[in-house]
Amino acid sequence: IPLIELLDISKTYGSSVEAVKNISLTIQKGEIFGIIGHSGAGKSTLLRCVNLLERPTSGSVKVGDVELTRLSTNQLQKERRRIGMIFQHFNLLSMATVRDNISFPLELAKMPRAAIKQRVDELLKLVGLDQHADKYPAQLSGGQKQRVGIARALANNPDVLLCDEATSALDPQTTNAILSLLMDINQKLGITILLITHEMHVIRSICDRVAVIDGGEIVEMGDVLDVFLKP
Ligand code: ADP
Ligand code: ADP
Repeated sequence: IPLIELLDISKTYGSSVEAVKNISLTIQKGEIFGIIGHSGAGKSTLLRCVNLLERPTSGSVKVGDVELTRLSTNQLQKERRRIGMIFQHFNLLSMATVRDNISFPLELAKMPRAAIKQRVDELLKLVGLDQHADKYPAQLSGGQKQRVGIARALANNPDVLLCDEATSALDPQTTNAILSLLMDINQKLGITILLITHEMHVIRSICDRVAVIDGGEIVEMGDVLDVFLKP
């Protein structure tokens, strides 16, 4: 079942930087899909087009049954709750505790206070941070910060998790721990994952399918085993 459908997406910055050129891509429900390419290839732009953090210059974005590119800002805000996102540099609020960082999207969604407490406790357990709820981001390791990012992204129970170079700032061992957490989230919670990376081993360790992007275009796409283990 298709969950994300990008149809003929282009994004031009200013009048001449064609970051993404006519990309069409369908991500199936339940898969871990990786987009790999060199720096400047257009990965980040393409990923940000999925939740419309970046407005495509042309083309349509459908998530589930909803065409996001047709929605008003208000309607879009709601639909975005079904799409979580994590970032290379975590993007945590430095003045807020771990608990408050994770609560934030639930407060925006107007969840009652007692329910927020319960949900955040559940999320802290899920990512293994139940002992660190009252710490501030500066008191955490990189891997722990990304765990907070993941908990925050999952707070509203999204269908999709978008990962923007989520392990690129982490050492190899921490990277592996985060990748295995992402696999768990995919398998146990059934959350579809779309990730971008410049690292082949990330694709090899967790992705089902991969697209190779270069110069804003998809140059190769298929099952990871077919694309990378060809003779
Ligand atoms: P990647 O994520 O693969 O490194 P990006 O999507 O960040 O690639 O960038 C693709 C191209 O678009 C690059 O040439 C980059 O300089 C350009 N670009 C990205 N964001 C902007 C922006 N906000 N304004 C202008 N150019 C941008
Ligand atoms: P990454 O490639 O790791 O995603 P970048 O360093 O390319 O990050 O970009 C960081 C930020 O700068 C992004 O918000 C991106 O949109 C913006 N950006 C990237 N390239 C340009 C550019 N040529 N002009 C203006 N903004 C840019």
